[in-house]
Amino acid sequence: MTPTDSRRSVVPPYLLHAVAQAAEFPRAASAARTALASLEAVQAPKHRHLVAPRSLSSTGTGTGTGTGTVDRSPQRTIADARGTTTLPGAVVRREGDADTGDAAVDEAYAGLGATHAFWLDVFGRVSIDGAGLPLDATVHFGQDYDNAYWDGSRMVFGDGDDEVFRRFTIALDVIGHELAHGVTQYTADLTYQGQSGALNESISDVFGSLVAQYAAGQTADQASWLIGEGLFTDAVHGDALRSMRAPGTAYDDPVLGKDPQPATMADFVVTTDDAGGVHTNSGIPNHAFFLAATSIGGHAWQGAGAVWWDALTSDAVTASIDFAGFAAVTITAAGSRFGAGSAEHTAVQDAWRTVGVLG
Ligand SMILES: [Zn+2]
Repeated sequence: MTPTDSRRSVVPPYLLHAVAQAAEFPRAASAARTALASLEAVQAPKHRHLVAPRSLSSTGTGTGTGTGTVDRSPQRTIADARGTTTLPGAVVRREGDADTGDAAVDEAYAGLGATHAFWLDVFGRVSIDGAGLPLDATVHFGQDYDNAYWDGSRMVFGDGDDEVFRRFTIALDVIGHELAHGVTQYTADLTYQGQSGALNESISDVFGSLVAQYAAGQTADQASWLIGEGLFTDAVHGDALRSMRAPGTAYDDPVLGKDPQPATMADFVVTTDDAGGVHTNSGIPNHAFFLAATSIGGHAWQGAGAVWWDALTSDAVTASIDFAGFAAVTITAAGSRFGAGSAEHTAVQDAWRTVGVLG
């Protein structure tokens, strides 16, 4: 465990390190140093004690039945830290309240609502714990804060520095990504280190992307498959933080460097940074999902997304599972859901072979 593994942040430490050294962007560099310091100050136990044991949480596996008296409507509360780093901040919008006119508040509210609707409509899951957990968020965290993160119980959004990063509520897939960390926490609880950590990151990219695709009504062919599109300012040579379609191509900037994500096992990154490369090697399972989803076609949440959900909630997935182990579970899940030898079953097998996880 490293000190940085307790927050599930959307911007990886290696990217913050690059921004922190950017003489061209003094405000962003200062903001990135602050963001790095806050990441490194957080101790793992602060997060871990908030994690609900899997045995105590519903896995919400599909139909929505069995949720009993759980209130199926979202219960959102948005707080404003007003430029401080004190959580939770002052409550500024509760469930049912009208727009406030503060873009960060209203984007967070809408994004939490879209994410709640995705999980309920598609998988019958009531909120991230499957039992109606209230969705809490804090906006305007810190000064120019260059990140968004899930702290185990709430989403926290910075405003960005406006030189490199815009405010983090802009991207619905980022909101979906962070809340998916909550879903993972309440289901497979994948250990945030090495390959299981990269799977944890990838699951968040997968379902974050699906939240955005579902909200936009996009098919797999229509989706951008970018993560964090719109977060970079126009000064950055890049489209997004990550690309599931083509990992390693999301940005290539003279100041920030090049997107380091591999697409296949041939380029797997061996490192002790970033909890063993959780934000880099996630490119491999991300690309496998993209390949499976686009091969199956249609709405990705009904094909590959359903298979990944079945896997995430399968007892066969252990907290420390590696890529090959997870791949095997998805293949079994695809066969169970769509039939052995079905196009979906074959697509999932081929995807994992193409990225080199299976021989
Ligand atoms: Zn993440």
